[in-house]
Parts: sequence; C-alpha cells; structure tokens
Amino acid sequence: MKRRKFLKNSSAVTAGLISVPILASCQETKPEKSISTANSEGIKPIAICTWDFHNATAKAWKVLKDGGSSLDAIEQGVMIEEADVNNQTVGKGGRPDRDGNVTLDACIMDKDSNCGAVLCMQNIAHPISVARKVMEDTPHVMLAGKGAEQFAYEKGFEKTNLLTEQSKKEWLEWKKTSKYETIINIENHDTIGMLAIDKDGDIAGGCTTSGMSYKFAGRVGDSPIIGAGLFVDNEIGGATATGVGEEVVRTVGSFLIVELMRQGKSPQEACEEGVKRIMAKNKDREDFQIGFIAINKNGETGGYCIHPGFSYSMFTEEGQINHPSDSYLKA
Ligand code: ASP
Repeated sequence: MKRRKFLKNSSAVTAGLISVPILASCQETKPEKSISTANSEGIKPIAICTWDFHNATAKAWKVLKDGGSSLDAIEQGVMIEEADVNNQTVGKGGRPDRDGNVTLDACIMDKDSNCGAVLCMQNIAHPISVARKVMEDTPHVMLAGKGAEQFAYEKGFEKTNLLTEQSKKEWLEWKKTSKYETIINIENHDTIGMLAIDKDGDIAGGCTTSGMSYKFAGRVGDSPIIGAGLFVDNEIGGATATGVGEEVVRTVGSFLIVELMRQGKSPQEACEEGVKRIMAKNKDREDFQIGFIAINKNGETGGYCIHPGFSYSMFTEEGQINHPSDSYLKA
C-alpha cells in the first residue's frame, strides 16, 4: 500500500494466518490555518489512531475543530478507512476469511461508558456505524453475525458486497498454495483503533477491522471486544490495540492500560506495561506483533509495540504527525 514501508515481517501465530506487517513512515501535515481549539480549562481536542491512517485522523480533526463531539469524530474518522477499498484490513476491500467471506468487527465507546459492538458481520460497509446504533438504539452491547446484519438492514444500512476483485484474487491465490499454512510477508492486520478528545474534554474511542486474513470462519479477535481492543473511561483516558487479537484478549489489554493510567502511569508507560504483560505470557515466542496506543484526560498520548515499525497518527491544533512507536524488541 502506498503509505506503507515494510521493514520487517514476522510469522503468524495461527496456522493459516499470514504474517504481521511492520511499517514505519513519517509525515507531518500542518492544518490549513492555525486555530486555537482549547477550551477554558485548556483542554485541547486531539485525535489519534493506530498506524498511519492519516486520512482518518484528518477527518476526525475536522469534526473536532468544527466543534463536534469526540464520538462523531471517531465514527466519521474510522469510516474513512472502512470505505477505502485499498485498505485490505478494514471495511470494504478487507481480506476474507478462509472460506472467502469478508466478516467485519467493530466497537465504539463514549464518554459515559456506553458502548456498542458488532462481531463477524457480513455485507455491511460501515460496521462502526452499526456498532453505534447498537449502543444508542438497543439495550445491548454486542450483536453478532446474522443478527447484526439483520439489525443493520432494519436501521437502513444497505447490503454491500465487501469482497473486492483484488481481495478475491489474493484469497484464491492463497487457497491454491498455502492451505492454511503460515505465509510470511503479506500485510494481514492493521486494525484502525481511534481515540479522541473534544472541546468539552470528553473522550471517545472506536475500533474497526476485517480481522486476521483467512481466519477461521466465525473467528473474532480483540477489536470489537470492549476492554480488549478498546476501552475508554472518561475520567482517566482511553486505549486501543492492533495486532494479533488473541493475545490482546488474553490480557484484556486496553482495559489494563486504562487501569494502569488510573494508577498514575503515563499513557506511554501504560502502553509499555501492556506489551510487557503480553510478552510475559509468551516467553518462548516473538513471532507476532501487537501495538497499543493510549491517551489520558490531559491529552497526553503514548504508543508501544512488540516489533519495530508500528506508528500512530495524531492530529491536534499543531497539525498532523505520524508518530513512530518505540518497541519491546529492537530492530
Ligand atoms: N486485532 C485484529 C484482530 O485480531 C487484527 C488487526 O489488528 O488488524 O482481529
């Protein structure tokens, strides 16, 4: 993909799943004009997201700068990636499961700890918006599979073929040669997890993905699981994850990071501890990538990963930057 530079790759952890992409790129964009969006308490809007999804943070920033809520910024920001068919890890154009079906996972969480999620949903291009509807229009937090899809239709979402020709071609190729064995050097999971603070100082977050490429049918990772792929506590901060979701679920990674910030750690320290906990549970393995990002109530941010190459995009009134993340393992 155009924004990516592959520096190093590592093998997947599950038979049939392909490798973790590890990237680094750095770019900085100044906003069109200098604006001060700080409120009377000095809280400044900010949007950050996993990887260099700069179009997503640019959209989120536009919402925030225009006075919109962090929740709207999150939804509209990540929708950019869901709609981008060249992004084969999120939304339409995402790589399918091993049976050729694109199944999407997403969750969203607001300043009042309301949350909604959809799991393993097919044929709907914007799972983040369905997750928001689950949060706002139902007494539930999660809807899965056919139920989620049916709910989406009831809410007016259109049926969409999510499998692009490109992803289909690659899947057919994968089927021919690998038969669920590990393939190295193919981008397979770059979830977008986003966190934002609005002019009122309120934090929201969202996470959306097509999950691991060529996963088992029905497989769900961390991304739509509140506490694992995403967690927000408006009094403290928020965290979100990308990478091999099974490992994030095992440590309830995003919740852990927010709790570490509650205990006084900075977002950076908390992300580092989150990764260390995962490594402590995987003493004999280094063949997978995880990246965490976090933000606290003061707008301080942090990011940390296992292998070098992870970064996070950040947009504030200072402009946009792709922030390379430090890593547990060194290059
Ligand atoms: N965390 C996602 C999952 O395990 C993968 C990713 O980050 O792309 O489904």
